[in-house]
Amino acid sequence: MSRSDLRQYLFATRIDPNEIRDRQQKIYAGLQTHSPYLADRRFLLLEEDLAWLFDQYDTAFFAGQCRGCLGGTPLEFRVSSRMTSAGAKTSRHRNPHTGQDLKYEIAVALTLLRQTFQTEVDREIKVTGLVCHDRIEALQRVFEHELIHLIEMLVWDVSNCSAERFQALALQFFGHTGHQHTLVTPREVFRLQGMRPGTMVRFTFEGRTHVGRINRITKRASVLVEDPEGVPYSDGRNYTKYYIPLNMLEPVT
Ligand SMILES: [Zn+2]
Repeated sequence: MSRSDLRQYLFATRIDPNEIRDRQQKIYAGLQTHSPYLADRRFLLLEEDLAWLFDQYDTAFFAGQCRGCLGGTPLEFRVSSRMTSAGAKTSRHRNPHTGQDLKYEIAVALTLLRQTFQTEVDREIKVTGLVCHDRIEALQRVFEHELIHLIEMLVWDVSNCSAERFQALALQFFGHTGHQHTLVTPREVFRLQGMRPGTMVRFTFEGRTHVGRINRITKRASVLVEDPEGVPYSDGRNYTKYYIPLNMLEPVT
């Protein structure tokens, strides 16, 4: 199989949105059976889980054409604990002299998936424009995104997820409506750990920016903003109280 076969397949294939969801859910269920330890609180993700995912996706969505197009070029998988902002990364290694493909690699950011859905960060998580309810769904969306990167590299050499062709393919095969993620990053956790009663914060509420002091933190923070029209407090000043999700607060230094 050649790149023109895969290209032809991409042009010729249209999958009904319900059918897309169906296939994604079958892989979801399969992954839970194949890798039961993914449901563990620690989210133990292994390279072989990614290899398994690749085979499932390639079979269910691309009729095995990705593997076919790779030919003898190795595709390796890596679980990265160092990646702290990108959800995953697909790269191609080439011989600098001959230009020949040596290998492809898909690396998935473990830290981001692990921190999502289990820390104090309680907010909606979207990956590729789709709401995710657990880490396995987030992993699938991230992985699907990387598959499109791989396919673009195989067929067109270059891949760019902010470009139209990528987004059209991601929508066509996986129903993706975006190309970014809102997984919990170490920076976000770090920032939230710095939020405690007394911290001065800035936030936007109904289009206006306010500065105030955190009064109390639960799933949201109550923030007291000085306001002559507000309620009098024991320090002799008047405040209005706002309840704001933690991720919408910026510390003021
Ligand atoms: Zn991308």
